[in-house]
Amino acid sequence: MGDIAVPYPWQQDYWGKLIGAEAEKHLPHALMFVGQQGVGKNRIAQAFAHYLLCDDDGKNSQARACGFCKSCQLNTAGTHPDLKMIEPEELGKAIKIDQVRALVTSIQKTAQFDGYRVVIIRPAEALNIAAANALLKTLEEPGEGTVLLLVTNSVSALLPTIKSRCQTVSFNVPAKEKVLPWLTPIVGDADQALHLLRAASDCPLKALEFLDSEWFGKRAETLQDLLAIQAGTMDPLRLAKKWLDYPILELMDWLLIWSVDLLKLQTGVNERVNNPDLLPFLTTLAGQLNSDSAISFGDKVGNVKRESMSSANPNKQLLLEDLLLQWQDA
Ligand SMILES: [Zn+2]
Repeated sequence: MGDIAVPYPWQQDYWGKLIGAEAEKHLPHALMFVGQQGVGKNRIAQAFAHYLLCDDDGKNSQARACGFCKSCQLNTAGTHPDLKMIEPEELGKAIKIDQVRALVTSIQKTAQFDGYRVVIIRPAEALNIAAANALLKTLEEPGEGTVLLLVTNSVSALLPTIKSRCQTVSFNVPAKEKVLPWLTPIVGDADQALHLLRAASDCPLKALEFLDSEWFGKRAETLQDLLAIQAGTMDPLRLAKKWLDYPILELMDWLLIWSVDLLKLQTGVNERVNNPDLLPFLTTLAGQLNSDSAISFGDKVGNVKRESMSSANPNKQLLLEDLLLQWQDA
């Protein structure tokens, strides 16, 4: 059993608009939730699905699903027949055409209950071309009372034919002051909460992941290893091997944030660095690199991240070696 999903505190403005559109019967039949990973798009999609399916007449004045009606009970059990989740069968893989065909068939039948039917597709960029094409007609005319919620971290990876059939809702990275009242009690310390949030580029759920990961403790060591390569006391190939044990996407996120900080330091905006606790190391590095090197290193890191996310199973060791060799010459 789970709980009825509710939006995160920093999502109240978006939430008000969504439930307002429903109350005024202006709800589009296909919505695309767009935004960076870690801002809570999945949560608000699920909350909205639960809200739409809730049978309680007072739900709009409460601004949430009631949690008690038959529909809400089914949703907390994860078994509501009118809520369909379409996700890759394996993490990181594509959503297949068979999954979309089964969905299309099922929503041609009438709803089991007398209300909405909701389909959540996530991440929408995982739809392969065949699956996306099979979805187009349903996106255009899903049928009375059916709402499709597509969630994506990477709107640029979506086919234009999908995008054009959905109304986009863009979730920005929230302001710190909206997040800290939520994050600080979880972390238990105001300074530490602020520090995590900065290191996560203000993405709240990413900050939470950092809190949980042992990997976060290796951060300073990782930056020192980069310094050691610059100083010629560490072999790039040996470091690439060490980094093979680290989660590569998170590692690339660190490097990206650091390269932004290096540029900030080089252009004199010291007070706004994302990683103030690493300032001594970052300042040393910023003094050693020219700004072109910091930019081209950031580009390279972005490439490694994209290649790591591609389905082609890249050779991580080669990617890291290549990256660190470039760093050595920066
Ligand atoms: Zn309810």
